[in-house]
Amino acid sequence: MNADLHCHSRASDGLLAADILAERARNRGVELISLTDHDDLSALADMRREAEARGLRFVDGVEISACWRGIGIHVLGLNVDPGDPSLVAGLQAIRDSRAARAVAMGESLARSGIDGALAGALSYAGNPALVSRTHFARFLAERGHARDVRSVFQRFLIEGKPGFVAHQWASLADAVRWVRDSGGQAVVAHPGRYPLSEAALREFLEEFRALGGSGIEVISGAHTPDQHDNFAALAREFGLLGSRGSDFHGPGESRFDLGSLPPLPQGINPVWSAW
Ligand SMILES: [Zn+2]
Ligand SMILES: [Zn+2]
Repeated sequence: MNADLHCHSRASDGLLAADILAERARNRGVELISLTDHDDLSALADMRREAEARGLRFVDGVEISACWRGIGIHVLGLNVDPGDPSLVAGLQAIRDSRAARAVAMGESLARSGIDGALAGALSYAGNPALVSRTHFARFLAERGHARDVRSVFQRFLIEGKPGFVAHQWASLADAVRWVRDSGGQAVVAHPGRYPLSEAALREFLEEFRALGGSGIEVISGAHTPDQHDNFAALAREFGLLGSRGSDFHGPGESRFDLGSLPPLPQGINPVWSAW
Protein backbone atom coordinates (compact mmCIF):
# COMPACT_ATOMS: atom_id res chain seq x y z
CA MET A 1 0.00 0.00 0.00
CA ASN A 2 1.52 3.32 -1.04
CA ALA A 3 0.18 5.42 1.83
CA ASP A 4 1.24 9.03 2.32
CA LEU A 5 -0.40 10.35 5.47
CA HIS A 6 1.29 13.72 5.89
CA CYS A 7 1.21 16.66 3.49
CA HIS A 8 0.21 20.31 3.37
CA SER A 9 -1.95 22.44 1.09
CA ARG A 10 -2.31 26.19 0.70
CA ALA A 11 -4.74 26.12 3.62
CA SER A 12 -1.61 26.07 5.81
CA ASP A 13 1.96 26.45 4.57
CA GLY A 14 1.93 24.21 1.49
CA LEU A 15 2.29 25.69 -1.99
CA LEU A 16 -0.37 23.68 -3.83
CA ALA A 17 -4.17 23.69 -3.87
CA ALA A 18 -6.08 20.48 -3.19
CA ASP A 19 -6.75 19.59 -6.85
CA ILE A 20 -3.08 19.98 -7.85
CA LEU A 21 -1.99 18.01 -4.78
CA ALA A 22 -4.40 15.15 -5.52
CA GLU A 23 -3.33 15.05 -9.17
CA ARG A 24 0.33 14.92 -8.16
CA ALA A 25 -0.35 12.14 -5.63
CA ARG A 26 -2.18 10.06 -8.21
CA ASN A 27 0.60 10.54 -10.78
CA ARG A 28 3.17 9.42 -8.22
CA GLY A 29 1.33 6.20 -7.37
CA VAL A 30 -0.16 7.16 -3.99
CA GLU A 31 -3.11 4.90 -3.10
CA LEU A 32 -4.08 6.25 0.33
CA ILE A 33 -3.58 9.89 1.28
CA SER A 34 -4.31 12.20 4.18
CA LEU A 35 -4.08 15.99 4.12
CA THR A 36 -2.64 17.29 7.40
CA ASP A 37 -2.63 21.08 7.36
CA HIS A 38 -1.32 22.83 10.47
CA ASP A 39 -4.18 23.38 12.94
CA ASP A 40 -6.65 23.72 10.07
CA LEU A 41 -9.40 21.58 8.59
CA SER A 42 -10.66 23.94 5.90
CA ALA A 43 -9.21 22.16 2.84
CA LEU A 44 -10.30 18.64 3.83
CA ALA A 45 -13.63 18.58 1.98
CA ASP A 46 -11.97 19.81 -1.25
CA MET A 47 -9.13 17.36 -0.87
CA ARG A 48 -11.46 14.42 -0.26
CA ARG A 49 -13.46 15.27 -3.38
CA GLU A 50 -10.35 15.71 -5.54
CA ALA A 51 -8.64 12.57 -4.20
CA GLU A 52 -11.69 10.34 -4.51
CA ALA A 53 -12.42 11.64 -8.01
CA ARG A 54 -9.00 10.26 -8.97
CA GLY A 55 -9.54 6.89 -7.32
CA LEU A 56 -7.42 7.54 -4.23
CA ARG A 57 -8.54 6.56 -0.74
CA PHE A 58 -8.61 9.60 1.55
CA VAL A 59 -8.71 10.08 5.31
CA ASP A 60 -9.27 13.43 7.03
CA GLY A 61 -6.20 14.65 8.89
CA VAL A 62 -4.63 17.56 10.74
CA GLU A 63 -1.21 18.40 12.20
CA ILE A 64 -1.65 19.93 15.64
CA SER A 65 0.94 22.31 17.11
CA ALA A 66 1.38 20.96 20.64
CA CYS A 67 3.83 21.45 23.44
CA TRP A 68 5.54 19.03 25.83
CA ARG A 69 7.97 20.29 28.52
CA GLY A 70 8.34 23.53 26.59
CA ILE A 71 9.26 21.79 23.33
CA GLY A 72 7.08 22.15 20.24
CA ILE A 73 5.76 18.75 19.18
CA HIS A 74 3.57 18.08 16.15
CA VAL A 75 0.76 15.60 16.69
CA LEU A 76 -0.96 14.22 13.60
CA GLY A 77 -4.65 13.49 13.93
CA LEU A 78 -5.53 10.87 11.32
CA ASN A 79 -9.03 9.76 10.36
CA VAL A 80 -10.49 12.56 12.50
CA ASP A 81 -14.04 13.90 12.20
CA PRO A 82 -13.65 17.48 10.86
CA GLY A 83 -17.05 18.40 12.33
CA ASP A 84 -16.18 17.43 15.90
CA PRO A 85 -16.88 20.49 18.13
CA SER A 86 -13.97 20.06 20.57
CA LEU A 87 -11.47 19.53 17.74
CA VAL A 88 -12.83 22.55 15.85
CA ALA A 89 -12.72 24.79 18.96
CA GLY A 90 -9.25 23.64 19.97
CA LEU A 91 -7.80 24.34 16.54
CA GLN A 92 -9.49 27.75 16.43
CA ALA A 93 -7.74 28.69 19.70
CA ILE A 94 -4.37 27.67 18.25
CA ARG A 95 -4.96 29.72 15.09
CA ASP A 96 -5.86 32.79 17.16
CA SER A 97 -2.61 32.58 19.09
CA ARG A 98 -0.67 31.94 15.88
CA ALA A 99 -1.79 35.35 14.59
CA ALA A 100 -0.48 37.04 17.74
CA ARG A 101 2.83 35.20 17.45
CA ALA A 102 3.27 36.36 13.84
CA VAL A 103 3.10 39.99 14.95
CA ALA A 104 5.77 39.34 17.59
CA MET A 105 7.99 37.55 15.05
CA GLY A 106 7.79 40.53 12.70
CA GLU A 107 8.77 42.85 15.57
CA SER A 108 11.71 40.64 16.50
CA LEU A 109 13.04 40.67 12.93
CA ALA A 110 12.55 44.46 12.73
CA ARG A 111 14.78 44.83 15.82
CA SER A 112 17.48 43.00 13.81
CA GLY A 113 17.14 45.45 10.95
CA ILE A 114 14.79 43.42 8.74
CA ASP A 115 11.73 45.49 7.98
CA GLY A 116 8.46 44.41 6.42
CA ALA A 117 8.73 40.76 7.46
CA LEU A 118 5.17 40.41 8.74
CA ALA A 119 3.75 41.89 5.53
CA GLY A 120 6.10 39.68 3.54
CA ALA A 121 5.06 36.53 5.40
CA LEU A 122 1.41 37.54 5.01
CA SER A 123 1.83 37.85 1.25
CA TYR A 124 2.55 34.10 1.23
CA ALA A 125 0.02 33.04 3.86
CA GLY A 126 -2.92 35.21 2.85
CA ASN A 127 -4.48 35.03 6.30
CA PRO A 128 -2.91 36.20 9.60
CA ALA A 129 -4.19 33.09 11.42
CA LEU A 130 -2.18 30.85 9.10
CA VAL A 131 1.19 32.62 9.26
CA SER A 132 3.90 30.11 10.16
CA ARG A 133 7.68 30.13 10.38
CA THR A 134 7.75 28.74 6.83
CA HIS A 135 6.05 31.87 5.50
CA PHE A 136 8.64 34.06 7.25
CA ALA A 137 11.35 31.79 5.84
CA ARG A 138 10.05 32.28 2.29
CA PHE A 139 10.15 36.05 2.78
CA LEU A 140 13.71 35.92 4.22
CA ALA A 141 14.95 33.72 1.35
CA GLU A 142 13.25 35.93 -1.24
CA ARG A 143 15.04 38.96 0.21
CA GLY A 144 18.40 37.22 0.07
CA HIS A 145 18.91 36.76 3.82
CA ALA A 146 19.53 33.05 3.19
CA ARG A 147 20.33 30.85 0.20
CA ASP A 148 17.00 29.02 0.31
CA VAL A 149 14.04 28.37 2.57
CA ARG A 150 15.66 25.49 4.45
CA SER A 151 18.89 27.35 5.24
CA VAL A 152 16.93 30.25 6.74
CA PHE A 153 16.60 28.13 9.88
CA GLN A 154 20.35 28.25 10.54
CA ARG A 155 20.30 32.00 11.19
CA PHE A 156 16.71 32.95 11.88
CA LEU A 157 13.47 31.85 13.52
CA ILE A 158 14.99 29.31 15.94
CA GLU A 159 15.67 29.78 19.62
CA GLY A 160 18.33 32.43 20.25
CA LYS A 161 18.08 33.86 16.70
CA PRO A 162 16.18 36.84 15.24
CA GLY A 163 12.52 36.14 14.62
CA PHE A 164 12.16 33.44 17.26
CA VAL A 165 9.18 33.88 19.57
CA ALA A 166 8.58 31.39 22.36
CA HIS A 167 5.02 30.29 22.23
CA GLN A 168 2.59 28.08 24.08
CA TRP A 169 0.71 25.77 21.77
CA ALA A 170 -1.86 23.15 22.79
CA SER A 171 -0.78 20.84 25.61
CA LEU A 172 0.09 17.33 24.50
CA ALA A 173 -2.83 16.03 26.54
CA ASP A 174 -5.32 18.38 24.83
CA ALA A 175 -4.03 17.61 21.34
CA VAL A 176 -4.34 13.84 21.87
CA ARG A 177 -7.75 14.19 23.50
CA TRP A 178 -9.20 16.29 20.64
CA VAL A 179 -8.04 13.71 18.11
CA ARG A 180 -9.38 10.77 20.09
CA ASP A 181 -12.70 12.46 20.91
CA SER A 182 -13.24 13.00 17.19
CA GLY A 183 -12.71 9.30 16.51
CA GLY A 184 -9.20 9.68 15.07
CA GLN A 185 -5.78 8.30 15.85
CA ALA A 186 -3.04 10.47 17.33
CA VAL A 187 0.37 9.95 15.74
CA VAL A 188 3.70 11.59 16.62
CA ALA A 189 4.84 13.49 13.50
CA HIS A 190 8.53 13.32 12.41
CA PRO A 191 9.86 12.17 15.83
CA GLY A 192 13.44 12.72 14.67
CA ARG A 193 13.02 16.47 14.47
CA TYR A 194 12.69 17.29 18.15
CA PRO A 195 15.54 18.40 20.41
CA LEU A 196 15.05 15.44 22.78
CA SER A 197 17.70 13.14 24.20
CA GLU A 198 17.19 9.40 23.79
CA ALA A 199 16.01 9.22 27.41
CA ALA A 200 13.64 12.19 27.07
CA LEU A 201 12.22 10.76 23.84
CA ARG A 202 11.38 7.54 25.68
CA GLU A 203 9.69 9.48 28.47
CA PHE A 204 7.77 11.40 25.86
CA LEU A 205 6.59 8.24 24.08
CA GLU A 206 5.58 6.67 27.39
CA GLU A 207 3.46 9.70 28.23
CA PHE A 208 2.06 9.97 24.70
CA ARG A 209 0.89 6.38 24.83
CA ALA A 210 -0.54 6.79 28.32
CA LEU A 211 -2.57 9.79 27.08
CA GLY A 212 -4.07 7.62 24.34
CA GLY A 213 -1.68 8.27 21.47
CA SER A 214 -1.63 5.35 19.06
CA GLY A 215 1.11 5.79 16.49
CA ILE A 216 4.45 7.19 15.41
CA GLU A 217 5.66 8.38 12.00
CA VAL A 218 8.33 5.72 11.47
CA ILE A 219 8.92 6.77 7.86
CA SER A 220 9.08 10.54 7.41
CA GLY A 221 10.47 12.89 4.78
CA ALA A 222 12.32 14.55 7.67
CA HIS A 223 14.23 11.36 8.59
CA THR A 224 17.43 9.69 7.44
CA PRO A 225 17.48 5.90 6.74
CA ASP A 226 19.20 5.33 10.13
CA GLN A 227 16.39 7.14 11.86
CA HIS A 228 13.83 4.96 10.09
CA ASP A 229 15.37 1.89 11.78
CA ASN A 230 15.54 3.64 15.14
CA PHE A 231 11.89 4.68 15.10
CA ALA A 232 10.78 1.28 13.87
CA ALA A 233 12.48 -0.21 16.96
CA LEU A 234 10.78 2.34 19.22
CA ALA A 235 7.39 1.63 17.62
CA ARG A 236 7.82 -2.06 18.43
CA GLU A 237 9.06 -1.37 21.96
CA PHE A 238 6.20 0.99 22.83
CA GLY A 239 3.51 -0.94 20.98
CA LEU A 240 2.77 1.97 18.65
CA LEU A 241 1.35 1.72 15.13
CA GLY A 242 3.60 2.93 12.34
CA SER A 243 2.82 5.73 9.91
CA ARG A 244 4.44 6.94 6.70
CA GLY A 245 4.34 10.55 5.51
CA SER A 246 6.39 12.72 3.19
CA ASP A 247 5.47 16.03 4.89
CA PHE A 248 5.34 17.37 1.33
CA HIS A 249 4.92 21.15 1.17
CA GLY A 250 5.59 21.81 -2.50
CA PRO A 251 7.99 21.29 -5.39
CA GLY A 252 11.50 22.44 -4.45
CA GLU A 253 10.79 22.76 -0.73
CA SER A 254 10.60 19.13 0.36
CA ARG A 255 13.27 16.43 0.21
CA PHE A 256 10.70 13.78 -0.65
CA ASP A 257 7.83 14.02 -3.06
CA LEU A 258 4.41 12.52 -2.39
CA GLY A 259 4.47 8.74 -2.16
CA SER A 260 8.23 8.45 -2.73
CA LEU A 261 9.38 7.28 0.71
CA PRO A 262 10.51 3.74 1.55
CA PRO A 263 7.81 1.36 2.80
CA LEU A 264 7.22 0.70 6.51
CA PRO A 265 9.77 -1.84 7.83
CA GLN A 266 8.76 -5.47 8.38
CA GLY A 267 6.90 -6.16 11.60
CA ILE A 268 5.43 -2.68 11.97
CA ASN A 269 1.66 -2.60 12.23
CA PRO A 270 0.47 0.21 9.88
CA VAL A 271 -1.79 2.87 11.35
CA TRP A 272 -4.10 2.36 8.34
CA SER A 273 -4.58 -1.38 8.98
CA ALA A 274 -7.81 -0.76 10.93
CA TRP A 275 -9.41 1.68 8.44
ZN1 LIG B 1 5.46 19.13 11.45
ZN1 LIG C 1 3.87 18.72 8.37
